[in-house]
Amino acid sequence: MRIHAITTGRVRVKQAQIEGRGHGLWRQLQPLLSPEWADWSPVYAWAIEHPEGAIVVDTGANAGLKSLPRWHPYFQFSVGFDIEPEQELGPQLQSLGIGAGDVKTVVLTHLHIDHDGGLAHFPQSRILASNEELKRAAGIRGAALGYLPNRWPKWFDPEPLVWSESPYGSFRRSARITTAGDIIAVPTPGHTPHHLSVIVSDGDTQIVLAGDASYLERTMLSGTIDGISADEAVAQSTLSDIRALCAQRPTIYLPAHDPQSADRLRERKTVSVSQQVKSTIATSTGELRISPAEATR
Ligand SMILES: [Zn+2]
Repeated sequence: MRIHAITTGRVRVKQAQIEGRGHGLWRQLQPLLSPEWADWSPVYAWAIEHPEGAIVVDTGANAGLKSLPRWHPYFQFSVGFDIEPEQELGPQLQSLGIGAGDVKTVVLTHLHIDHDGGLAHFPQSRILASNEELKRAAGIRGAALGYLPNRWPKWFDPEPLVWSESPYGSFRRSARITTAGDIIAVPTPGHTPHHLSVIVSDGDTQIVLAGDASYLERTMLSGTIDGISADEAVAQSTLSDIRALCAQRPTIYLPAHDPQSADRLRERKTVSVSQQVKSTIATSTGELRISPAEATR
């Protein structure tokens, strides 16, 4: 099994989107109102070469995102893309020797525009997404929430990802992506209410393809939610569950926009969690919650 980190161009957002400031509506307005732009971030998509066929997690951005609808304030004031057609996921996979026909499954962590942007390259693949996320992203309401459902390919009709009550680590529910069970999805609500992440088991190590569960490994560890999440408690709880996961087993944590994600994957650099947290887990029988202070980098 081999995982490729593929950079489908760059995105620029406000710093207050990456690290939420304040609370409630104030926090959610800061990505619009703040004048402070963050540095350009990569837009990663992931391709996994697997015995059951190649699996793509998120499809990245597309060159069409350089022109966004001006009627939407978020698109007008708060986000910018830098991507050429040859940087889209399809052509980059081709140059790795992975043709569209080789991609058996595409899993979408959520349907934001820099995650569903490469869908057009995969008309023959099985596409898995959360049904609730699909409903949220569709139609005029979806467009108002910052999705671009009108740009989905005409054939786009993903298979709903069905959760089973089989726990994985700190997560109560999961869904198998491969028959072998070495690639699964878990619900990681927060950034969007039905956001999910994909976990690849690779020997002793687990690799978390986190989508936008957090923008950075650092903000996951510090428990800093983003400027987008609607429900702060839900987002906090997800970050806590991810920290617990990292404490249970060596974990390579790969958000879709963390500038360090590709290096961490290449170097197989796992998240460091303090020894104290690990021993807490070894003796814990109840529900596990790890506070930001206990998780150290
Ligand atoms: Zn997103």
